[in-house]
Amino acid sequence: MGDGSWSRSSSGRAPLPWALALLLLPWLVLWTLPQSLAGLMWAGLKRVRGGVRPSLYRFGPFLFLVVPEAPFSGLGISLGVVVLAGHPRVLTHEFCHLYSGLWLGWLYLPTYGLEYALFGHSRSPHERITVRLEGSTRWAWERTGRG
Ligand SMILES: [Zn+2]
Repeated sequence: MGDGSWSRSSSGRAPLPWALALLLLPWLVLWTLPQSLAGLMWAGLKRVRGGVRPSLYRFGPFLFLVVPEAPFSGLGISLGVVVLAGHPRVLTHEFCHLYSGLWLGWLYLPTYGLEYALFGHSRSPHERITVRLEGSTRWAWERTGRG
């Protein structure tokens, strides 16, 4: 896969109107503030020190900032409205983690931390939920602008 695979997903429904995404964004950032802040700080750090350019992506009613580089050895991490992804094929999965952010709110990081410590990554309940959501979502993601 070339760089083009970052620009459009394979299939699915187009994102909802921009106005909705922009209306939702401030509330979403507040609701997921600890993880979104951590993600934004990481994105800023990678931009300044690593020259990695983040891009805006839309998925359903949501707007995400995607850093096209995974931290550590993983393939991706979802931090509120920020996604760190090593490959475009993990984007849908990482975007679906925002759904658990909707009910976990500020408890997202402690909950995931606890679950990963107790069950490991792939067996954690919220990881399993996210895999299901990923499999059933009808949304396609879309990169906006050049990025
Ligand atoms: Zn996951």
